[in-house]
Amino acid sequence: MSATTRRATATLLRPDDRKALRRIFGERARFQEPLAPYTSWKIGGPADAFVTAHDESELAQLLRFVLQRRLPWWILGGGSNVLVGDGGVRGVVVRLAGEFAGVSVIAGVGEVVVDAGGSADMALVTAKAASAGASGVDSLAGIPGTVGGSLRMNAGTDREIGEFVRTVWVQSPSRPEPHAVSVQYLYRRSTLEREVIVSRVTLAFARRGVRDVREDMQTRLVRRKKTQPIALPNAGSCFRNPNGDKAARLIESVGAKGWREGGAEVSPLHANFINNVGGATAKDVATLLARVRRAVRDRCGVELQLEVHLVGVFIDAT
Ligand SMILES: Cc1cc2nc3c(=O)[nH]c(=O)nc-3n(C[C@H](O)[C@H](O)[C@H](O)COP(=O)(O)OP(=O)(O)OC[C@H]3O[C@@H](n4cnc5c(N)ncnc54)[C@H](O)[C@@H]3O)c2cc1C
Repeated sequence: MSATTRRATATLLRPDDRKALRRIFGERARFQEPLAPYTSWKIGGPADAFVTAHDESELAQLLRFVLQRRLPWWILGGGSNVLVGDGGVRGVVVRLAGEFAGVSVIAGVGEVVVDAGGSADMALVTAKAASAGASGVDSLAGIPGTVGGSLRMNAGTDREIGEFVRTVWVQSPSRPEPHAVSVQYLYRRSTLEREVIVSRVTLAFARRGVRDVREDMQTRLVRRKKTQPIALPNAGSCFRNPNGDKAARLIESVGAKGWREGGAEVSPLHANFINNVGGATAKDVATLLARVRRAVRDRCGVELQLEVHLVGVFIDAT
């Protein structure tokens, strides 16, 4: 291992940081925790610290801690849109669970209001909303991950989650208490600042017949099964669609379906997906992404932009 790699992968936590985190969070503070199991690609090196907060006051405590100790931190949701480097992530990786996973739905006159914690599973959110007749929720059906991640990414299909957001509550190290913020939603991104964590969201949908909504959900899920390799570890679409075109079409046009780099393969079913077909490293995926991007640039004259977020230290895994 080179001196540079050694420096880039050395923990930033001092022994007293570890002790303090253990004192506050007990077994929910882990050290050198491999992140691969927490990502849909099943790829990623260790976090210096991996801490799970169960409620708003624990989250506030953790954010005050990282600020006082000047530690870098990063919030991980369902890990379905991130490529974590093989060298792992320095500082504290924050995860929400417990109260943050809650979802409640109220079916009112003409509308369905969903109140969800930042780590609520999108599958649960969409299923509960559909059972109350939430019109349009089918456009979010089958998108893996959490509410917080979906907001950051403005996840969706023909309609996006931002369209349904009524209120967003966040916390940050500079303001460690739940407070509402106004957010703009753009194509696969939002104006949420890097330094905030979404802790709670209220969504509002027009109300329609439950049977019709469920039928629409089912249609979407069936279509996904046919067109996406959902049984394999991947992170959905890797590149954003360029203006007026589809990244998948461009990638397919350069003959990239089936290209391989180590254990990573451009999906033969959906060209914008890269599957981990066995033992892929972040380096394999990053090399394949670069190869695809180069081919599309050279042959189509289009510079593809990544949709997946690259996080942590990218090194030679061997
Ligand atoms: C099979 C498959 C199909 C997919 N289909 C779609 C699709 O149709 N449409 C679509 O838009 N996406 C799709 N995706 C991508 C992905 O599911 C979405 O982007 C999802 O919203 C990411 O949520 P997450 O919780 O997994 O976020 P993560 O991947 O954990 O994180 C993504 C980003 O959000 C940030 N983040 C996570 N939680 C929070 C929080 N609480 N507060 C603030 N920031 C946070 C992270 O720091 C990171 O920057 C698909 C992925 C897969 C694997």
